Amino acid sequence: MLRSLFLAVAGSARLERLVESTPAGSGVVKRFVAGSGAEEALATTRELADDGLAVSLVHLGDTTESLEQAQAVREEYVALLGRLHTAGLAPAAEVSVKLSALGQRLDEKAAFQHARAICAAAAEAGTTVTLDAEDHATTDATLETLLELRRDFPSTGAVLQAYLRRTEGDCRELAVSGSRVRLCKGAYPEPESVAFQSPLDVDKSYVRCLNVLMSGEGYPMVATHDPRLIAIAEDRARWFDRSTGEYEFQLLHGVRPEEQARLAAGGHAVRVYLPYGKQWFGYLMRRFAERPGNVAHFARAISPRT
Ligand SMILES: Cc1cc2nc3c(=O)[nH]c(=O)nc-3n(C[C@H](O)[C@H](O)[C@H](O)COP(=O)(O)OP(=O)(O)OC[C@H]3O[C@@H](n4cnc5c(N)ncnc54)[C@H](O)[C@@H]3O)c2cc1C
Repeated sequence: MLRSLFLAVAGSARLERLVESTPAGSGVVKRFVAGSGAEEALATTRELADDGLAVSLVHLGDTTESLEQAQAVREEYVALLGRLHTAGLAPAAEVSVKLSALGQRLDEKAAFQHARAICAAAAEAGTTVTLDAEDHATTDATLETLLELRRDFPSTGAVLQAYLRRTEGDCRELAVSGSRVRLCKGAYPEPESVAFQSPLDVDKSYVRCLNVLMSGEGYPMVATHDPRLIAIAEDRARWFDRSTGEYEFQLLHGVRPEEQARLAAGGHAVRVYLPYGKQWFGYLMRRFAERPGNVAHFARAISPRT
């Protein structure tokens, strides 16, 4: 029920203003989101880098419904990459990009050109791009775009979702030398025909995929907050004799920060997925919907007594 409540208020401008206007509310926002602009994104990136964490920055924008919006997203990322370079932060921070934000559904060729321009800006800045995974109807097109981009920008990262039945096979295809692959559980509602439905089946698939990636030639990026899966990944890294720099853990900014610090202190490379942008409120509500345990923070933050 709480989940639906948070999803229902995700579009409420009034609640957004309330959260933003209280000091504690803005503290909660800051825990999960860098802020609404590139300036704040750079400042938070620097703080995380100072703590020994790498970053993947993602811009939160409106749903892209026009070619002009897609062009603006491209410009946002290109400008951000230039600023990361100037600030000396490019070695610590890459960017994550959703092809839907670049207009994949409107004009696939134009979206590819935008993604290419962002990859070129990243290469010039001295960093990389990872293409986020979205709903299963886009998986083939996204993987085709990835392979095309990798011809000129071989370090472009892929994301594979363990809940999809096809993913173990995709892991085999992508577990090749130099191939950066983020493995996550998957975040979109998907039908039984294409996706495992029970958490146990998703976890089992995650472990099978992890085995393929860790035993392969590529660079696995283990994106989960799940303590059991993190422990299994630590074990597989040892088993397959991978040293630091041959795999990494990835967690969302603000989620299990103590675990991020523990992994980093243990000698693992850890990258934090750091969102920023004007559309931070919907993102925040989706995080609360996923994890109603965070409601306490939220309630305290917007309570008039705080
Ligand atoms: C870096 C990163 C990038 C991602 N990129 C994509 C993408 O491109 N496409 C996509 O579809 N999805 C993406 N996701 C989302 C992902 O698919 C999952 O929806 C999300 O990570 C939740 O799954 P989980 O593996 O953390 O485990 P869950 O099943 O959500 O949680 C398992 C366990 O983890 C612990 N846990 C989880 N959250 C918390 C918390 N807030 N506080 C304390 N403990 C917690 C609890 O013990 C919980 O029981 C990404 C996730 C990360 C971390």
